[in-house]
Amino acid sequence: MKVTRCVIAALFLAVSARGADEVIALKASRIFDGKSNALLQNGVVIVEGDKIVEAGSNLPIPSSAHVIDLGDATLCPGFIDAHTHLTSDFSGDYSQRRLKEVDLNVSEQAIIATTHARATVEAGFTTVRDLGSRFVGSHEFVDVALRNSINKGVVIGPRMLVATKGIGSTGGHFDPTSGFRDFLFGREPDYTDGIADGPDEIRKAVRFEVKNGADVIKAAVSGGVLSLADEVDTPQLTSAEMAALVDESHRLRKKVAVHCHGDEAAHEAIEAGVDSIEHGSFMKPETLTLMKKKGTFLTPTLMATEWIMGRLDNYPPALQAKAKAAAAARSDMFRNAVKMGVKISFGTDAAVYPHGQNAKEFKLMVDLGMRPIDALKSATANDAELLGIGQKIGTLEKGKLADVIAVPGDPSADITATERVTFVMKEGKIIRQGPPAVQKHGNNASPPLTAPAD
Ligand SMILES: [Zn+2]
Repeated sequence: MKVTRCVIAALFLAVSARGADEVIALKASRIFDGKSNALLQNGVVIVEGDKIVEAGSNLPIPSSAHVIDLGDATLCPGFIDAHTHLTSDFSGDYSQRRLKEVDLNVSEQAIIATTHARATVEAGFTTVRDLGSRFVGSHEFVDVALRNSINKGVVIGPRMLVATKGIGSTGGHFDPTSGFRDFLFGREPDYTDGIADGPDEIRKAVRFEVKNGADVIKAAVSGGVLSLADEVDTPQLTSAEMAALVDESHRLRKKVAVHCHGDEAAHEAIEAGVDSIEHGSFMKPETLTLMKKKGTFLTPTLMATEWIMGRLDNYPPALQAKAKAAAAARSDMFRNAVKMGVKISFGTDAAVYPHGQNAKEFKLMVDLGMRPIDALKSATANDAELLGIGQKIGTLEKGKLADVIAVPGDPSADITATERVTFVMKEGKIIRQGPPAVQKHGNNASPPLTAPAD
């Protein structure tokens, strides 16, 4: 009886000691601060409430601190993925996915999305820029709902910057009715679905999305791989439409990310002043030179092509041909971008492959010539800059939000260590220490959704 009482008292003390102002000291053999060119030994991050109070090498640990020693591991800023679609899963058989897309209730798809959010944060990605969420025949803003639920603590997931519907032209990559029988959904999509033609309608679409909660504007300026009614590299917005898109978004203080495989469309989009080119498969060296000059980010999404190329039988012949063409071009494009010093953001197109495998992008980047330390920076400081929240996250520094993860060993020696995250803290709260709570989805494990992504 006495023992039980002691145990209860000890438990009570342990729980009550974990108050909001408890100081936590995270220790590991190494630390990557998000911006330095090398890891430091004997990493320490001191956390109080939701903020980092101090971070560095061999720091003294306050006697009142609760110490978490993560051993032979590297402390890193929480990773950022600048290109996800958390409300969707396109990873299985393409035709089955299209059928389920019109079968499943959107509310059910929203509930499934909460498991994608959890798998992502448990993989060490504490922030994502979610670039498009659309349900054919529906006007729901599931990405906004998921973001808000995570912010309120109702759902466990990464901090999200959301784009709502992507904006694109009639019949273009984002047209959700492309490939279906004409008027199957009773009407042509319009600006309320993100489909807009002409500069004025583009402005209206941007305004409509911001009104409904968009943090960032996404548009398709060229064709894509997983869409049925377009070629992969044709321009899909005019220069006048792109100028209106960028002007209206920047007036409303929103950044612009554009889906773009084709070189001509990329050149025009960079000239128009977009903030990032997503994919960029066919970009020529001259276009990369322009990107470097203008400071435009490249989000390469190597994982998306990698996944599709590994399972070509999942896709109809027309899409297989587009995937092959994009895959054949993108490796040279990426190598050139690295050599030329174009700003590279880390983004994976999660949803094209199962959520939670985001970190596999690191090895693909390193295999194509990027230094491991630069790949790590792309997913931390670079992405924080692109997202416009570099003052809050992206590095382990005094005053920043305590988004801290740990990977085993030394990721600068073995970049695949990033795929085996052992500890995740977001805003000072421990989300994971040890094995993940959510099993990663298999290829066909969760119902696929919505309109084309890649
Ligand atoms: Zn995408």
